[in-house]
Amino acid sequence: MSSPTGSDGPGGPAQPLVVQPLVVLAGPTAVGKGTVVAELRRLHPEVWVSVSVTTRAARPGERHGVDYLFVDDAEFDRLVAAGELLEWAELHGSHRSGTPRGPVDEVLAAGGKALLEIDVQGARQVRAVRPDAVLVFLAPPSWDELVRRLVGRGTESTAQRQQRLATARTELAAAPEFDVTIVNAEVRQAAADLVALWTAHPIASRAEADHHPDISEA
Ligand code: 5GP
Repeated sequence: MSSPTGSDGPGGPAQPLVVQPLVVLAGPTAVGKGTVVAELRRLHPEVWVSVSVTTRAARPGERHGVDYLFVDDAEFDRLVAAGELLEWAELHGSHRSGTPRGPVDEVLAAGGKALLEIDVQGARQVRAVRPDAVLVFLAPPSWDELVRRLVGRGTESTAQRQQRLATARTELAAAPEFDVTIVNAEVRQAAADLVALWTAHPIASRAEADHHPDISEA
C-alpha cells in the first residue's frame, strides 16, 4: 500500500491531505487492461492497485494475494452477504470476481491513488455507489485488433473464445457511459494517459472537502 500523504511527520505539521478520485479502468475482454496496469505499476509504484477476490482457479504463475485472492463459492457468498465487496460480477458465466471494499476505503482516506481494474458491469456498480469515481474505458484501436489479441492470447478454448467475443461486443457498446476513453494502441502511452487522470481530476484538499461552504458564499 502506498504510504499516506499528509500524516504528521517528525519535522512538523501535516501537509493538507489531497483527496484523490477513485480511478476505475474497464474495457472489453482482451483489450489489454492487465498489460496497461502492469506498465502503470512499473512506472508509478505509488499507485495502489486493488486485488480482487475471485472464485476462478488460479492460472499458472498467478499468486494468491498478489494477482487475486482465490476463494471458494461459500467464502464469496459470505463476502457479498457481509457487504464487504464494493462491487462484484459474474464473468463469462463461469465464476465471480469482486473488489474488497475495505482496502479501497483505507487508501482513499489516506490520500492515496487507488485504481480498480474490473469489468464493465463492475464499473457501473462503482458509479452507483461512488459517483465521484473516474470511469475509464480502455478501447482497442479496432474490432479486428481486439479479435487478434483475443486469439493471440491462446489461453481459452474455441467455445470460451466465442463467448468472450460476444461479451466484448456488448462491452464495447458501453463506452459512452464512461468519463474518459483511452485507446490502447501503445501500452506505454495508455499507461501515461491513465496516470495523468489523477492530476487532471483533483477533487479537493481535505480541508476544502471538510469545509462544506454555504452555497450563498459563492
Ligand atoms: P481474468 O479472469 O482474465 O483475470 O479477468 C477477466 C475479467 O474479469 C476482466 O475483464 C477483469 O477486468 C475482470 N475482473 C477482475 N477482477 C474483477 C473484479 O473484482 N470485479 C469485476 N467486476 N471484474 C473483475
